[in-house]
Amino acid sequence: GVEIELDHVTKRYSGTRAPAVDDFSMVVPAGKIVVFVGPSGCGKTTTMRMINRLIEPTSGRITIGGQDALKLDVDTLRRQIGYAIQQAGLFPHFTVAQNIAVVPGLLGWDKKKVTARVEEMMDLVGLDPADFRDRYPRQLSGGQQQRVGVARALAADPPVLLMDEPFGAVDPITRGNLQDELLRLQTDLKKTIVFVTHDFDEAVKLGDRIAVLGNQSKILQYDTPESILAN
Ligand code: ADP
Ligand code: ADP
Repeated sequence: GVEIELDHVTKRYSGTRAPAVDDFSMVVPAGKIVVFVGPSGCGKTTTMRMINRLIEPTSGRITIGGQDALKLDVDTLRRQIGYAIQQAGLFPHFTVAQNIAVVPGLLGWDKKKVTARVEEMMDLVGLDPADFRDRYPRQLSGGQQQRVGVARALAADPPVLLMDEPFGAVDPITRGNLQDELLRLQTDLKKTIVFVTHDFDEAVKLGDRIAVLGNQSKILQYDTPESILAN
């Protein structure tokens, strides 16, 4: 597994008064799931986007597997990190299969292997390839789009997963299955996972550790689900 470390990370968006994330430090241990819970606007997405290098911290250091995340080239980063978000963020002019194949394609996998992997990922998220492979995102429900987003994040088998409310619109039964799949990926493949949710039951089910965040991502509590439930 790959450890993620954030060391005194601050993000100040230009034109705003207060930092979105203020002096945030945390170690996400290799092969563990850390769940962030906290109010809307507290900086969860900003933190995820900094780890993934979609935005740069104003100050502080982020390391992934001991390497400076700010210096990793984008290909290396894409190989290491799968990112799934609430809005799914699918490419509208790509089919489901093409969306899932994006990162394996960038990594130069051969066509046969990509096709097989797309089917495997669609099965994993419970979308029948025969029915869904050639649809466009607009032909899917919100929950189905999220499932494609999760399949895309997992496709290249990255050691790190950043998941920002990835199952919010997924029906409860499928959601339970996806949570079980995520736990299986963690146990069997030692993936390191940061997971954002508003659903406390989900946080308790998935988290090795739960980080309860306040404004500007101040860490109010960081503990096992058992200890947090006891308090
Ligand atoms: P969360 O994911 O916890 O809801 P965000 O990370 O999206 O929080 O936002 C944290 C804070 O940063 C909020 O106050 C939000 O308004 C602000 N913010 C987010 N993105 C931008 C941006 N691009 N420019 C300016 N402020 C932003
Ligand atoms: P949900 O209950 O998940 O919100 P919807 O009511 O949005 O689902 O959709 C019900 C079914 O219709 C889903 O299987 C979805 O894939 C399909 N569907 C929704 N929109 C379209 C569309 N524009 N074209 C084809 N199929 C669609």
